[in-house]
This record gives sequence, structure tokens and C-alpha cells, in this order.
Amino acid sequence: MGLGFQVMKKMRLAIIGGGISGLTAAYDAIRTFGTDCQVSVFEASGSLGGVIKTVQKGTHLIEGGPDTLLVRKPAAVTLCRELGLEDQLVGLDPRSQRLFVARANNIDEMPAGFFMMSPGNWPAFYRSQFSWAAKWRAQRERLIPRRSGASHDETVASFVRRRFGEEILRRAAGPIMGGLYLGDPEYLSLRHTMPQFLDIESRYGSVTTGLTELRRERPSNAASAFQGFKSGMRSLIDGLLAKIPAHVISTQAKVTSVLIEQGAWRIGSNQGFTTVDHVIMACPSYVTADLLRHIDGPLSTYLDQLEYASCTTVTQLYPRANTRIPERSFGFFAPRQDGLSLVAANFMSHKFPDRCQRDLFSIRSFLSHSGPHKDSELARSAHDGLSRLGLVSGKPIDSVVFKFDRAMPQFEVGFSGRLVQINREVARLPGLYLTGSSVGCVGIPDCVARARSVISQIRERQGSLHEAS
Ligand SMILES: Cc1cc2nc3c(=O)[nH]c(=O)nc-3n(C[C@H](O)[C@H](O)[C@H](O)COP(=O)(O)OP(=O)(O)OC[C@H]3O[C@@H](n4cnc5c(N)ncnc54)[C@H](O)[C@@H]3O)c2cc1C
Repeated sequence: MGLGFQVMKKMRLAIIGGGISGLTAAYDAIRTFGTDCQVSVFEASGSLGGVIKTVQKGTHLIEGGPDTLLVRKPAAVTLCRELGLEDQLVGLDPRSQRLFVARANNIDEMPAGFFMMSPGNWPAFYRSQFSWAAKWRAQRERLIPRRSGASHDETVASFVRRRFGEEILRRAAGPIMGGLYLGDPEYLSLRHTMPQFLDIESRYGSVTTGLTELRRERPSNAASAFQGFKSGMRSLIDGLLAKIPAHVISTQAKVTSVLIEQGAWRIGSNQGFTTVDHVIMACPSYVTADLLRHIDGPLSTYLDQLEYASCTTVTQLYPRANTRIPERSFGFFAPRQDGLSLVAANFMSHKFPDRCQRDLFSIRSFLSHSGPHKDSELARSAHDGLSRLGLVSGKPIDSVVFKFDRAMPQFEVGFSGRLVQINREVARLPGLYLTGSSVGCVGIPDCVARARSVISQIRERQGSLHEAS
């Protein structure tokens, strides 16, 4: 390809996408290279943060998109510390641990200690509503031979069925894990959604044994596994923007072409053309695929194969007196059905008790589609779902709807192989970097870690070019 770099001149970097991936990359580039680098962020929409959407309506704090960070993956919490946001982080209310799964017009409580698919407290599991056959089958999990190997992958459903049996899959793990990823457990890759279960199987031979061991190692006073922000996830975006000079970012700047011209990258947007040395694609895989089609057809084909699910979140406020929410519960998942179905709901007033008035109750529902529906139809659908389960009566005082079109990547078995091909193609195009879901990031901590590793790669590349010159 023969791409050259203007080593001695100021390095020019374009970042396409102003979500958490793109803004973290911009922040880290500025921190790493200072005035030696000219950074330009292109964001197609009028606002920054991508799917991170926090709204304050009076005293009600609403998260449209993500609401927590997984602490076990430390990159995002480390970034918060660096940005001086540590005192803004807040754990989930530790009292609200009860989880439910919808069945017909009811919600079944998952037994204490149950984690995704695995009983953690056997007496509680034996007292639960699972059939005796399911209990007997789960108990035998320890005897099921391990299936392991560095490249081993299988669907979430196949793993749960193999280790714990059909009923645990249908009544618990399927709705829970499908709801978390807004996807179909018969299709989702375990390696790309919950790789820890493959690791546990390979290390301990049994999920129940492994989880028991890991619980023993974890201090009993360990902090919450998830952290939100006192003023919502928007704090993370504002914290990054405080460190990025305003002139670096263009909103309403949709990138429409990415070309290679005379050894440099030429970025075309509705605001004109810019020439840069490095370009970071921090937009969804299908956008990256379209933009790179003329440069590398096979790369676009691999990127195109990643499917995304659409969803809607509906946050509704009810008079507390009109709710029948089980105490100390944080929400429920529901098996997927056809059409516009309620797949999960978070009891926000239990997760974060200070986010609305005490005489009101905030519930956030997840619907499995966004589609052409009006906001009022989506709000009614969420309310009807909650009402059918006996959780609310009367009408909500307020409903706030966020539609996410093609927003949740559906990493299926086979994605790992494709990722190898994607990385191979990208390596043939010096100066091109991919971040976010295109390269398998699941959630904000992964996006932050990947964006920062891309800046390290650029630093290394610049360093080796300086040495060679
Ligand atoms: C409803 C929901 C709930 C979630 N909950 C959690 C959670 O609790 N915790 C968690 O860790 N993760 C959660 N996630 C996942 C997490 O939010 C994402 O992994 C992460 O925010 C993705 O960030 P990103 O910057 O890679 O992509 P995005 O946020 O999608 O940003 C991509 C940006 O690229 C822009 N763009 C697209 N095309 C162009 C173009 N041609 N030119 C310029 N710009 C373009 C888009 O406008 C967008 O702003 C959730 C996701 C959703 C949808």
C-alpha cells in the first residue's frame, strides 16, 4: 500500500464517532501527544456520548442507555479516577439483590445466590420454584465433563443446556443472559458475552465448583460489582469533554468517505475534507464497513456480518402507592416473544434510591424493538407489560422513551474467527485503527480499554518511525 507518514510534522489524527470510544481516544491522544498531535473528532449527530443518554426531569434522574460500569473490568473506573470523577461513582444499593424472571403473568424469584445459570446457595435453590427434575439436573453439573480448549466457543444456550439442563436455560439463564444482551441465547457466543464461564469450566471442570471457589476468594466486604454515577453516566462524558479542547470536536459532522490519497487518509464529511496520518473508526461496525468498502472489500464484508439488535428503553414514574414491587429487588428479565415485547425491567428506585422523590417509583423497561412505533405506543407497551405482571396499576405520571436503532452488537459463535480476519486486514492498512463493537467490545469498560490501547499502538508506531528516520 506504501502509506507514508509525515514524521517530523505535527501528527494528524481523525476520530470518527463521538461516543465513549471516540471521546476516550481523543482524550488519551491529547494526554499522550499534547501539542504534537492535531486531533479531530467527527460526530454525525448533534450530541456527544453516543448511546450514553442521561436526562434530568425535575427531581427525576433518567438513564436512557447504560447506567452502570462493571467494576471487574477496571478500565472505565481507572479512567474515572484519572478524570477526577471517583467521588461521583456510586455503587448499587446493596440491599436490592433480589432478581426475578417473568413467567406467564407472574414473576418468579431467582433463589438467593443464583448467578446467571448457577445456584450458589443450595438450600435456597432446593426451596425455589424450579421442578425437582431441574434441581436434580443442576446438582449433577459437577459431574458433567469439561469441554475446553483455547479456541473453544459455543452458544450461551448450548453451554447452559449442556451443564445445567433445559429448564434452567428456559426459566432462568436464557431470559437473563438474552435480556442482558438483548439477543437470542441460541445465537449469542459465550466467549464474547460471558467468557468467564468458559474460563471457569476450563479451570475447575464445573461452574458450580468454580463459582464456590471464587466466592471464597472474594472478600465478604467487597464493594458493589457495578458502579453508577451520582448524576448519571453523562458525568463520564462531561469529564472527558472537560479535558478535550472544544475546537477538536465537530458535531453534525457525518463522515461520508474515507479514502487513501498520496499516502495519507482523506476524510470527507458534510463539513468538507481533511487529510490525516491516522484514522480511528469509533462508529458501529456497519458504518465502518460502508466507509471502508472502496479501500478493502474483504474487511467490509467481515464487518458487515456483525448483526445489531434494536431496542427501546422506557422509564416510567408511578406514585409509589400504585406499585407492587417486591422489596429489595432490582428488576426482572422476561423470555423473548415475537413482536414488541418487554424483555427486562430495572426497578430504578431500588437500584439508585435517590433518583426521584420518595413517594414516587421509577421503573425502566427494555423493549425488544424500536421500529417505526410512536413514543406513546412504546410507553403503553411497557406499561401494559408491567401491569400484566401485576407490578403497577393506574397510569404512569411520566414516561421517557429512548429508541436505540441497531445499537446492541450480537456477537455470535464464529465472531472470534472473523475478528482474526478483521485484525489481519486492518494490519495491511497502516494508520487505520478500529475501536468499539466492530472489534468485540462489550460495554463501556471494553470500549475504554480498546480506545486507550489504540492510542498506545499509535504511540509505538510513531516511536518506531522516529527511530527509523
Ligand atoms: C440500552 C443500552 C444499555 C446499555 N447498558 C450498559 C451498561 O449499563 N453498562 C455498560 O458498560 N454498557 C452498556 N451498554 C453498552 C455500551 O453503552 C456501549 O458498549 C458503548 O457505549 C458503545 O460506545 P461507542 O462509543 O463504541 O459507540 P456509540 O455509543 O454507538 O457511539 C458511536 C458514535 O458514532 C457516531 N457515528 C455513526 N456514524 C457516524 C459517521 N458516519 N460519522 C460520524 N459519526 C458517526 C454515532 O452518532 C455515535 O455517536 C448499553 C447499551 C445500550 C444500547
